[in-house]
Formats: sequence, C-alpha cells, structure tokens
Amino acid sequence: MEIAKRTENGSGQCVHLCRPPPAPDLPMQHRGADSGYNALAPPRAYPAPSLPPAPSRLLPSDLPAPHPPCPGSAAVRSPGSRFASSLRVLCSPPRRSAVFWRPWIDDGGEKEQEAPHNAVEAVPLKQGRSLMDWIRLTKSGKDLTGLKGRLIEVTEEELKKHNKKDDCWICIRGFVYNVSPYMEYHPGGEDELMRAAGSDGTDLFDQVHRWVNYESMLKECLVGRMAMKPALPKDYHEEKKVLNGMLPQSQVTDTLAKEGPSSPSYDWFQTDSLVTIVIYTKQKDINLDSVIVDHRDDSFRAETVIKDYSYLVHVALSHEIQEDFSVLVVENVGKIEIVLKKKENTSWKCLGHPQENHNSFIPKKDTGLFYRKCQLVSKEDVTHDTKLFCLMLPPSTHLEVPVGQHVYLRLPITGTEIVKPYTPVCDSLFSEFKEPVLPNNIYIYFLIKIYPAGFFTPELDQLQIGDYVSVSNPEGNFIISQLQELEDLFLLAAGTGFTPMVKVLNYALTNIPSLRKVKLMFFNKTEDDIIWRSQLEKLAFKDKRFEVEFVLSAPTSEWSGKQGYISPALLSEFLKRRSDTSKVLICLCGPTPFTEQGMKMLHDLNFSKDEIHSFTA
Ligand code: FAD
Ligand code: NAD
Repeated sequence: MEIAKRTENGSGQCVHLCRPPPAPDLPMQHRGADSGYNALAPPRAYPAPSLPPAPSRLLPSDLPAPHPPCPGSAAVRSPGSRFASSLRVLCSPPRRSAVFWRPWIDDGGEKEQEAPHNAVEAVPLKQGRSLMDWIRLTKSGKDLTGLKGRLIEVTEEELKKHNKKDDCWICIRGFVYNVSPYMEYHPGGEDELMRAAGSDGTDLFDQVHRWVNYESMLKECLVGRMAMKPALPKDYHEEKKVLNGMLPQSQVTDTLAKEGPSSPSYDWFQTDSLVTIVIYTKQKDINLDSVIVDHRDDSFRAETVIKDYSYLVHVALSHEIQEDFSVLVVENVGKIEIVLKKKENTSWKCLGHPQENHNSFIPKKDTGLFYRKCQLVSKEDVTHDTKLFCLMLPPSTHLEVPVGQHVYLRLPITGTEIVKPYTPVCDSLFSEFKEPVLPNNIYIYFLIKIYPAGFFTPELDQLQIGDYVSVSNPEGNFIISQLQELEDLFLLAAGTGFTPMVKVLNYALTNIPSLRKVKLMFFNKTEDDIIWRSQLEKLAFKDKRFEVEFVLSAPTSEWSGKQGYISPALLSEFLKRRSDTSKVLICLCGPTPFTEQGMKMLHDLNFSKDEIHSFTA
C-alpha cells in the first residue's frame, strides 16, 4: 500500500498531462493498487484503458531514473513501452514526422492544432482507403491478424521478426497489433508506420496523438500482449508461485499445447477496500457468460470457459469478503476482472490457499459439473401441463447461461440425487435481450412440462416457493457466432423442444442486424399444448421479420391449420431460402425421433451440416 500511495501522490514519478485524457475504462483500483506480487505499479498519470499489469521488465526499478515532466509535454512513460526512454527524450519536440499516428487527414481541427511545428504532410490515401473504408473492413468479420481471433503472448524475438510491410507487428503500451492490413489506410503513410515495424511504437505514438483511440481503431488487429518475464517479488515464497502468474507447465496437456487455446493466467490486486482478481484469457469473444463465479464460506471459485476448455481459479480466501461482488469483462483484450469487497480494510498478504484443480486449464469434458443451490421464487401455469419456474441464484454467484445452452437441475428423490437437463428461457418473448447489467442477473427461468408418470418433474412440481433446487454450470454446443451475419433463421421445435428457441429467437431479433427473417414451425399434439401461443402471435404481429406456423399431430376437428408430423413436404414449403448464397441456419429440437427424422430430411433437402443445429443432450 505504501508504494501504491507514493505513486499516486506523485513523488516525482507521476506525470501530469497537459490535456485531460479520454475517460479511462479501468477500475480505480488499478491506479497504483497493490498487486499480488507487491510489485510497484508503473507510474501513470491515468490508467491506460484495459491495460494488464506491466510486464516485469517494465517495473520502474528497471527503468532509467525518471526526469521531471517537461512543462507542456503530453507525454508519459508508458508501462508497455519497451523502449521507454527517459522523459527528457519524450519531452523533446518530435524530430521525425508527427503524423505517425495521425488518424485521418480530415479528422478535425483539434488535431491540426496539436501537430508540432515540424509536422510532415499527410500522405494522400488511395481511393477506398478512407476512415469509413477502414471501419467497414474492421466490421466485415475478416480475420485481420491471421490468428483467427486467438490472442497470443508475443516475445521480443517474435515481435522483431514481423518487420515487413506485409507482415508488420507493432507494440503499443504492451499490446501488439498486426498493422499490415491498416498500412494503406494510415494517413501518415506506410513509411511512417514502418518506422516502428517489429518494435515498440508507444513513444512515437505518445509524441503525437495520445488521445487517438487506437485501441478501438486497431481492435481487430490485436495480436496479443507482450510476454511477461516471471518476476519474483522481494517477499516471494512458494505459495505465491502457485497463486499468481502463469499456469504451471504440468497442467497444460500435450493436446492442449498443440491444438487448444493458449493457457490463461491470473493475477490479483488490492486497495484498502477491494480485491480484484484479473484473469487474462488471451482470447477475443469473451463475455460475461464466459465466467462463472461462486463464493461460498471462504471458498472462491471462478471457472472461465474458453472454447472447449475450462480455466479454474479456486482458492480458500485468506480473509473474509462481503457477499456481493462484480464481474467486468474487457472483451477486446479478453480480460476478466472480479472485484471483491473486503469485509475489513486490512492488507492481504496473499489471496488464499489453492483448492482442488486451482489454476488448471483442461478440456471442459474432463471437468465435473459444479452445482449451487437456488431458491424457487415463483411458479406459473403456462399450459395445462407446462409451468414457468423462476429460480433465484445465491447472492454470491455470477452465472449467466449462454444462448442455446442448458443446465442440469438436481433434486434428492427418495434419498438419491437425481439430475435432468433443462434449458433456461427469458421470462417472456418480449423481454428485451439485454446485456447483463450489474448487479448480476439473479433469476433463471425455465419452461418445464410436468409428466404425471415422470420421475423428476412431479418432484419438481412439488417444490414450494422458498424451497431449493441445485443448478449446474451450463453445457451445450450451440455457439452464438452461428448467428452472426445470418439472413434467414428457421426454427423447428416440437413440444418443450421450443425452450432453446426462446433465447435464440430473442437474441437474433435483437442483435443480428443482417437478419431478414425468422420462421418458427412449432409442432404440438393439440392447441392446448402450444406454449406461449398468444405471445408468439403478438410477436409476429409486432415484428414483421418473425413468422410462426403451428402444426398439430392430434388436432380437434376445428383445427384449420397444418397437421401431421415433421415431413419433407412441410419442410420444403417452409424452408424457402432467400437466395442460393444467403446465410441460413436451421435449429431443431424436440423428441429424439422428431430430431432424427428432421435431420435426415434436411440433409435430403441439401442443407449443409453448417446450416443445421440440432439441440441434444
Ligand atoms: P421421465 O421419467 O423421463 O418420463 C417422461 C415421460 O416418458 C413420462 O410420460 C413417462 O411416463 C414416459 N416414460 C418414461 N420412461 C418410459 C419408458 N421406458 N417407456 C415409455 N414411456 C416412458 N424439458 C422441459 O420440460 N423443459 C426444458 O427446458 C427441457 N430442456 C431439456 C434440455 C435437454 C438438453 C434435454 C436433453 C432435455 C430437456 N428437457 C426439457 C427434458 C427433460 O430433461 C426431461 O427429460 C423431462 O422433464 C422428463 O423428465 P421426467 O423425469 O419427469 O420424466
Ligand atoms: P410431445 O410428446 O408433446 O410431442 C410434440 C410433437 O413432437 C408432436 O406433436 C409431434 O409433432 C412430435 N413428435 C412426437 N413424437 C414424434 C415421433 N415419434 N416422430 C416424429 N415426431 C414426433 O413432446 P414433449 O413431451 O413436449 O417432448 C419434448 C421433447 O423435447 C422431450 O423429449 C425433451 O427431452 C426434448 N427436449 C430437448 C431439449 C434439448 O435441448 N435437447 C430441450 C427441450 C426439450
């Protein structure tokens, strides 16, 4: 703490900016907070957005003695800057072109005003290489790094190798970007960018336009972070080695090293009142639903799901914490922060003691299912045999079930723990698909059909409000990226096979701009069996992209709609794709014979494997 305070108090190391920087998105506790290593936080006038802890070699003790900041200088020594020379150098007017990181020529007068006297003229850009063109390219979904969305740790040796125009990596504030795709869009010209090829461009960037939002501009070019060299703090001892830093090699299997994602790592920091555990996943596409956190007694468990792997932080905390905590995700750098509130404002010497599988990164299929007890808070009739159950998560749990995934419910029945899978739904078809907001979503809804002769559901139905049922971590192989850029979405649901369709439908209508049509064909025995019929009809009325068709296998004589089981005739009429090239997804769910027959029919209708997703156990 002492060290952190000294840094914040600016005892000659804190540099003041001439101009207020854009609002940082980093929590306050990163400002000079104690790290688990007790390492000195690098001096910063403000925290760089989403910045991981400084690589060890950048600790102030490794750097030349700082010079006081030059009046009028907008430069600070950046934590990630490998070439971070003394501030004196940074204070000098840039000797080279000042358009190094200049965003776009027509980018407003403010930047003109800032350009130093010896600014070199911006290079005219070719046709089709404007800011808008760059934004369009970054949003096109094209793999701009060549790493298929993976983030890697980059060593100095590796960085140096990427020093050619068609293979150019640059490090800025500890993050490495592949700027080759950006070359032709850079207003300062390719030669300017090439000056930092295969090296650290932080200082050059700082000399010119610190406030340029390069994190966002080059987001899709992010290759990863500069690799940290292991640092041994002064009071290093064995326990810390286990609790901080990189995953021990023994826990990374051979298969994983060859095929799986890079192993995550974690660290922790503290202020007087907070402890922040940071998980570096090294993957893009990390969301709030990628991490599941449970705190029970003194046991703290955070499981992060990365593709088909699971990374676990599992410790018995050294001190007590309050019940509630927050979880934040910095998606573009794949960083997860779990902010715990201390019960007492004392300094923690260590995070805690490792528990089973702590700091392991193993295929998800090899992990056991973890359960927490949830309370039944409401139960509502939906049809004559189907009910909407609402369960409340414990306050010290963060769990969001991803779209298209299911959980297992567990109940003791005649002395034995019985488990069955169920798919969470939204509370209604009209609940906006919101990004989860803090405090964490605490309710999970299920549409469950009660089978009088069934084993599990009658027991579930017996539960009283306030009773508990255990809920597992999510499972399932649906991935949200299957919906990206989709034009036509077809949903084939039978009976409670409708449940996975609820969130898929809701997510697609809210989050997929390319979507033109969503069609649901809903198979049931009778009209009375149709779940949320009036909601579906209202939705079809309200949103013209959505259509619903009911097909009954045992209708009454009054039914004038479609009848029968799933058939090629029904499907070929229903599944009209917009054009040969339109992106289509067909989701299927229902009784096993329904799903199996449906799959065969779809293949016979020439839909490819990638265009079909069947929900199974
Ligand atoms: P079971 O004991 O399994 O019996 C079900 C019916 O089959 C009863 O009518 C019973 O009499 C009959 N039956 C049982 N055994 C036989 C037999 N040998 N011969 C003839 N008939 C038999 N269900 C939902 O309601 N909502 C969901 O969200 C949901 N999600 C699911 C997600 C997944 C991934 C999967 C695989 C299933 C899901 N289910 C869902 C189904 C759920 O898991 C249960 O199978 C269902 O609730 C029935 O459980 P039960 O123990 O009450 O009935
Ligand atoms: P149900 O018995 O009420 O039947 C609904 C419709 O399914 C019928 O009208 C018919 O059109 C079709 N169907 C039924 N049997 C068929 C057969 N032999 N061949 C062709 N079509 C048939 O359905 P239910 O009781 O609501 O059962 C729903 C099923 O969906 C359960 O088996 C459940 O396990 C499954 N389910 C799976 C998931 C998942 O994610 N995998 C999720 C929810 C439900």
